[in-house]
Amino acid sequence: MSIFTELAELGHEQLLFCRNDEVGLRAIIGIHSTALGPALGGTRLYPYANEEDAVRDVLRLSRGMTYKAAVAGLDLGGGKAVIIGDRSIKNEALFRAFGRHIQSLSGRYITAEDMNTTVQDMSWIRRETQWVTGQEKLTGGSGDPSPVTAWGTYQGIRACLEVVYGSPDVGGRTVAIQGIGSVGFHLARFLHEAGAKLLYTDVNERRLRSATEQFGGKIVSQDAFYSAECDVLAPCAIGGIINSRTIPMLRAPIIAGAANNQLDDETRDGEALEQAGITYAPDYVINAGGLINVYAELKNLPAEMAMNDAGNIFNTVKQVINKARANGITTTAASNQVAEERIESVSKLKRLHLIR
Ligand code: NAD
Repeated sequence: MSIFTELAELGHEQLLFCRNDEVGLRAIIGIHSTALGPALGGTRLYPYANEEDAVRDVLRLSRGMTYKAAVAGLDLGGGKAVIIGDRSIKNEALFRAFGRHIQSLSGRYITAEDMNTTVQDMSWIRRETQWVTGQEKLTGGSGDPSPVTAWGTYQGIRACLEVVYGSPDVGGRTVAIQGIGSVGFHLARFLHEAGAKLLYTDVNERRLRSATEQFGGKIVSQDAFYSAECDVLAPCAIGGIINSRTIPMLRAPIIAGAANNQLDDETRDGEALEQAGITYAPDYVINAGGLINVYAELKNLPAEMAMNDAGNIFNTVKQVINKARANGITTTAASNQVAEERIESVSKLKRLHLIR
């Protein structure tokens, strides 16, 4: 397929190839949509096997950001960047050269940290362009987004409970968390404070110990997590864990967690969950707190505002599940529709010059 056909099929506005041989930079910036605002998405550093894989990744990830921002109600579009290489290529000159390419887009694309890039790398980019976000608190940024992500996830869990049991109350409910890291730990705290019973699984013994010491609850093995008798499974570790092997093991009526790309195959596994009568909160809807946090930084909004806005994930998750039920579609298909409807209606307003 020609690259222009692929861009047209996925709806991308622009794909920018960035090269600087002197510093070893080979990067691609994907701008999927600026219909709602500047395209925001992190810069991923990865040793792609070939250029096609890098292009495929940047196209997929930038499109995902458009949907995430749209459902979260933010005035942001979707973008993403990839730098081809491993961590050994990282240095000031490389990131500053990349920063100049970002600057050339005059704010159409705003970057942030992502896989294998850090706050330090962003500070090098910032020497060359203002279009970078996700700074540390010390330097006036919004800092670690995980408490906000966890709060949004907690609210999404409450929304699922309300749809499934008729009450959002987590008191007395059992939630199994996979991955008790930055987000999982804060989530455990919110749930514990609201009276939930907790089960945990993680590959890190120290984190498990720390969680049980602070919040009580029980540790379960990886496989026991999937078959746990509980009300909610909250995946907060890695992607691809809801798949044809694990779905037959599931007993919980709800899957609602912060991990990205939980479904191994969005359509196949989404439909299998639906057939099994399991309510799934689409990952990109329930974990939007991190993006909401960065948006607050961009707009100079107080930190409490980010927490408050992440609380609205309760309503969004309910809206998405109800739409899915009303139309007999998966929750992911329903959230994609919510995003597309918002993009369409705001674009219409812009065409009428009601919003500039
Ligand atoms: P983290 O690295 O702090 O924590 C991940 C935890 O999962 C760690 O405790 C790790 O030991 C554990 N883990 C890793 N592999 C595992 C496995 N196979 N089984 C069980 N546990 C395993 O990461 P995080 O920032 O808490 O993010 C967790 C997930 O949420 C990721 O998928 C991330 O992309 C997503 N997410 C995070 C944010 C955020 O604000 N941090 C925002 C949106 C989405």
